[in-house]
Amino acid sequence: MFPNIPFRRVDWISSSFLIGTLLLTITAVPWYLLTFEWDWFMFGMFVVLYMCVGLSITVGYHRLFSHRAFKAKKPIRIFTLIFGAAAFENSVLEWCSDHRNHHKHVDTDDDPYDISKGFFWAHIGWILFKLKTPPPLDNVNDLKKDPWIVWQHKWVHLIAFTIGFGLPTLLGYIYADLTGAMSASQGLLGGFLIGGVARVTCVQHSTFFINSLCHMVGKQTYSSECSARDHWTMAIFTFGEGYHNYHHHFQWDYRNGVKPWHIDPSKWLIWVLSKIGMTSDLKRVSNEKILLAEVREAQRRYAEKMPGFEASGLEGEQTWDRALISLKEFEQRILEIYEELREAVQEKLALSKSTLRSLRPELRKAIEYLDYLSNLQGTLVRQVAAG
Ligand SMILES: [Zn+2]
Ligand SMILES: [Zn+2]
Repeated sequence: MFPNIPFRRVDWISSSFLIGTLLLTITAVPWYLLTFEWDWFMFGMFVVLYMCVGLSITVGYHRLFSHRAFKAKKPIRIFTLIFGAAAFENSVLEWCSDHRNHHKHVDTDDDPYDISKGFFWAHIGWILFKLKTPPPLDNVNDLKKDPWIVWQHKWVHLIAFTIGFGLPTLLGYIYADLTGAMSASQGLLGGFLIGGVARVTCVQHSTFFINSLCHMVGKQTYSSECSARDHWTMAIFTFGEGYHNYHHHFQWDYRNGVKPWHIDPSKWLIWVLSKIGMTSDLKRVSNEKILLAEVREAQRRYAEKMPGFEASGLEGEQTWDRALISLKEFEQRILEIYEELREAVQEKLALSKSTLRSLRPELRKAIEYLDYLSNLQGTLVRQVAAG
């Protein structure tokens, strides 16, 4: 009946959980909200748990454990292990093993959530269908040395159900009992559905969007070697992980949104925690290296577009000839900036802030000029054709 679905490989436990929680979120949760009066406690519990669990994935599972982008004291490690488990995204060992394979083999068959297999596969399909052989976890030996990580791996399902569903259900009951704002059963049900089910679904899909949409939508500012992209709207729901192009290029940087105006709550939290001594050794890529990557990407775009402009058949058109001269000047300037930055990076020299500040707009203008020229080419070609 469904010839394209490999039913023999369906992971029935994961699939039932993922589809079950999603169905409850779009049926039972709206029913609860429509049946009972709005209650700020339930909403507050959803937000707080969403943040605790979501940030445990981005700050803990991702930046701390997978990438070792900073060091953290025991309370932070234990907190992210416990609340991260409540995301129902497996143990740190399994998550990090998959994620390290994703970075190492991105966009190929060995990438667990390979986007070249399409949105559905990268988003959720890779979890619904079992792998032919379970991953050997041979790329997380460093993490196996931490006894707390090993403990979490052993008890991950118990922790997940206790914190993910038990805690909000209990909190809902205590709230109802203490305040009398609702019946005990309404408190229990609200805690379970809103703090548990809806929160699990939202955290999971925001993580999944990093593997799917963040490899499809947005800009490739730092490198177009892989499919990862930067988009600020994705960063809002994912605590800053939407700057995925930067992250794939400089994966060991504790920041994903590297510019001061980027929305990256995970970065802000790690930085604030470092000020009170809970995190340390925050790894940062130098500004010169970051700009050098942007310049390289701009050079690649020029090399890609230039032959098409030169063979446009518009030679002799005054506007076009002038535009091409400007384009060559921009290309030359990019080369000069590249040399200046390459030397600074090689010699480990830090350029002044004002120099870096002046180079960025120059580079942006040069990249924008490519789009301007593409538009101009289209307009002129149409004009020539129209006689
Ligand atoms: Zn990725
Ligand atoms: Zn990563």
